[in-house]
Amino acid sequence: MLFISFLFGASLASFIASYSFRLVNNYPLTIPQRSYCDNCHSILRWWHLIPIVSFIVLRGQCHYCKQKISLYLPVIELLSGITFAIFFIYEPVHDLIIISFLSSLIFLTYTDFFNHIIYSYSLLGLVPIALLSVPQNYFYNLIFACILAVSLLLFATVTKTLGIGDIEFLFVICLVWGWYQTLLIIQWSSLIMLFAFLFTKKRQLPFIPALAFTTIPCLFIQGC
Ligand SMILES: [Zn+2]
Repeated sequence: MLFISFLFGASLASFIASYSFRLVNNYPLTIPQRSYCDNCHSILRWWHLIPIVSFIVLRGQCHYCKQKISLYLPVIELLSGITFAIFFIYEPVHDLIIISFLSSLIFLTYTDFFNHIIYSYSLLGLVPIALLSVPQNYFYNLIFACILAVSLLLFATVTKTLGIGDIEFLFVICLVWGWYQTLLIIQWSSLIMLFAFLFTKKRQLPFIPALAFTTIPCLFIQGC
């Protein structure tokens, strides 16, 4: 069952990545139904679609046109697979909420990483996790989330470093988890961004992938 959970998590990540790609590029979502190469648009065979394994077998490039496949894909598939496998050991009953939460995180990460777009509706998938948190006072969470959102908006206006999507994400996280976890996520993801900046020297880096990455350990802290 552990392996099936891993495979499910990895396949889900792979599906969300291909859905997000079509959505952000305004390609039809259902035509063609089979997955295809982003570059040469050749329909992929079944053995090109096995999460992680295909990337290794194909040596990180398209079978037909040799276009490089982003390392992001197998990394997200692996992380998603591991997270699902771990959660299966802990609380299989809560899987649906976890699936919704992780699917949203993967989707948000993908659209921000590749196209700097955040679809606000995808944040809704994060909300049900509130049901699994340790009992909290959601009224105080809401007040702090509002204070945080206003402060971040001011910060974003002055420094031009944050996008509205980043602020919306933190608002929702604060609403479901409270101020402590949110500040922890901001602190760790800012550190990741600092390293990413030193490494790439790019000023325009997507923040959501770092936020999502630091959100996952918080799932365990919350004891979901
Ligand atoms: Zn190709």
